[in-house]
Amino acid sequence: MSENPFRELPSMTKLLAAPALLAARERHPQAIITAAARNALDALRSRLTAGEQFDGNIDALAAEVVAALDAQATPTLRPIINATGVVLHTNLGRSPLHEDAARAAYEAARGYLNLELDLVTGKRSSRQNSVRAGLKAITGAESATAVNNCAAATVIALRSVAAGKEVVVSRGQLVEIGGSFRIPEVMVVSGATLREVGTTNITRLSDYERAIGSNTAALMRVHASNYRVRGYTKAVPLEQLVELGRKHKLTVIDDAGSGEAIDLEPFELPGEPLVSAGIAAGADLVLFSGDKLLGGPQCGVIAGRAELIQKIEKDPLMRAFRLDKMTLAALEATLRLYRDPQQALREVPTLRMLTTPLAELRRRSELFATRLRALGGLTVGVREDVAYVGGGSLPDVGVPTTVLAIAANGLSESELATRLRTGTPPVVGRVQDERVLLDLRCVFARQEDELVEAIKKAVQL
Ligand SMILES: *Cc1c(COP(=O)(O)O)cnc(C)c1O
Repeated sequence: MSENPFRELPSMTKLLAAPALLAARERHPQAIITAAARNALDALRSRLTAGEQFDGNIDALAAEVVAALDAQATPTLRPIINATGVVLHTNLGRSPLHEDAARAAYEAARGYLNLELDLVTGKRSSRQNSVRAGLKAITGAESATAVNNCAAATVIALRSVAAGKEVVVSRGQLVEIGGSFRIPEVMVVSGATLREVGTTNITRLSDYERAIGSNTAALMRVHASNYRVRGYTKAVPLEQLVELGRKHKLTVIDDAGSGEAIDLEPFELPGEPLVSAGIAAGADLVLFSGDKLLGGPQCGVIAGRAELIQKIEKDPLMRAFRLDKMTLAALEATLRLYRDPQQALREVPTLRMLTTPLAELRRRSELFATRLRALGGLTVGVREDVAYVGGGSLPDVGVPTTVLAIAANGLSESELATRLRTGTPPVVGRVQDERVLLDLRCVFARQEDELVEAIKKAVQL
């Protein structure tokens, strides 16, 4: 046994001279390679201290360093294949953008644009002007503006309308959307005071009426986006809240959430409020997300009375919540697709995926199953299943769907799922009944070949 456990430890010079590390210079800066080599030697020193042996294989050690370097250089955020069937998956980035919107964001990103410049007069203009017309068109509102997300929209709307005053909300609507968006806490941040009325299941107009006092500024309806209260329930329709608000000169705010701009009932996707319905019902402000059913970039829309929108845009918080040039460009391009609702249904990826006819999905799945079976080593079935919209939209509407149910010889279903998830590109599916379920609903046609390759690699490993 060697007296000195570190006698086997290679020198830094020797490790850096390994062919693999010399070759790595083509892909990585020398300083980064040196740092990674030092880390590897430090780790080896700890292992030797703990009594482990080093076999003297410097090339193997260099290979570990290269693997660490390559892993470091891989972007953390990567495009993935969403085979979950969940169209609005918050963890997967919610809505994918239409090509026009993605291109608009790309062009805005890589150059200059007239973000706040009126090209005709040469004078300064408002960045919100680029999306105002489109937002007015889909909501029917007098004016509209957009901020970072619906959470920001809620905070700034409440602050402008009701800071230091009370806002009346039904106890049945004190929602938590996830990621710390909770109405009572949002209210605190905005500086308004929450005045809860009614009970979890029943709130009557008289409950609101009794709560109105000299310090009341607004009545707010919050859409129960990600849950439903069923059974013995009663909520006050927005029209009645508006009537009550008018009588007492209060602002009525409708947090509609999901941002449905085209009626999806004909596609058996009922239950979300249309963004135009809140305005038609007379709400002074309607708030919704841009990256849920609207199918645009992450943002929050505030539509309503011009005078209120103006006040919101003058709020100092607007500077903190305002949209960047890429998002504005993507939102403007998305809204342009809505000029023709039929075109929007066909082309906005979120809407197209949600309304894909089941027969079409089944046909596509059958064809895909044939390709997978040809790979060998796989058992592939096609079966009916139920998917959910996700993203805090349509919580109890299961959308009938078709999935591929896959099992690989010699691999457990969770092992297969892990290999798919950690492959390139990563594939995210679901695990159920000893199978990995892949739903093609959210898999773009351009990803099909990649998906076949990814599955092939996962099985071969
Ligand atoms: C989703 C949602 C929000 C939060 O929207 P983000 O854009 O995710 O901030 C707020 N209110 C309602 C009712 C929602 O559905």
